[in-house]
Amino acid sequence: MPRRWREAHSHPRHYSRGQSELGKEAGLATQSVLPRLEKYTASLSWDKLDHVALPQGAFGAVENPGLIYVSIPWIVLVPPARPEAIRSLEAHEIGHQWFGNLVTQSTWTDVWLSEGFATWLSAKMMDEEQPADRKHINLVVQSREAVMTADGSATSHPVRREVRTRPELDTVYDRTPYQKGGAILLMLENWLGEDVFQSGLRKYLVAHAMGNATTDDLESVLPARAKPVMDGMLNTVGVPAVSAGCEEGKLTFTRKAAERPGNVPYRFAGRLRRAAYARRM
Ligand SMILES: [Zn+2]
Repeated sequence: MPRRWREAHSHPRHYSRGQSELGKEAGLATQSVLPRLEKYTASLSWDKLDHVALPQGAFGAVENPGLIYVSIPWIVLVPPARPEAIRSLEAHEIGHQWFGNLVTQSTWTDVWLSEGFATWLSAKMMDEEQPADRKHINLVVQSREAVMTADGSATSHPVRREVRTRPELDTVYDRTPYQKGGAILLMLENWLGEDVFQSGLRKYLVAHAMGNATTDDLESVLPARAKPVMDGMLNTVGVPAVSAGCEEGKLTFTRKAAERPGNVPYRFAGRLRRAAYARRM
């Protein structure tokens, strides 16, 4: 790690003189999250990472390469009892240093390559602070369950969609690329395996560093079986519905493909109770 980079983070200053307490949690979050993301991506994003707190802004925070703007109301108004909200926000913006800044989506259609990744990475960082049995709780509750409830309504749209007009552009950053995009990444990671997924992402970052990328580029670094699943999930409103049942030790899965088209990845995990296993043998 370059000396200059490390020095930049040894004394974080996120605040104006006399307001150091306001930036304390954001500073601690950066020190906690940044090294973990460097390790996960096996790369450094920029030579430095500064923060500027603004009196107000259109968003809670905005990522620039090596410079994150954070809206002061966000820092001040989040109750002190919920410092995890600030850590989550910081993890999202720092995640963008790789997904969004180092590699930027080629078109508005692929905004999910920034926002879905930042949502997923933020939840991943927050999950690491949870007990093992609560792993994925952040993304499952805040993204997957939330978006599955709303997805499929009259106003829903696919994660990927063409943007042709100014009004369409105004809705590019709605919840879908964030929540559904993040949930799809969690699904892929669980399905393909954490190591396989991480290895693919590292290749993607190296191949497109300081450049642009598309969904096809991401799919090309993952196992071939990922593409039909991703295309279905990303380009279609709603998610496939699968019903599961168990009778007399036999698992059955049924789905109404006509209602919710798309490929469904299956992965089985769990343990058979010894008694049940013995009976079957
Ligand atoms: Zn974002």
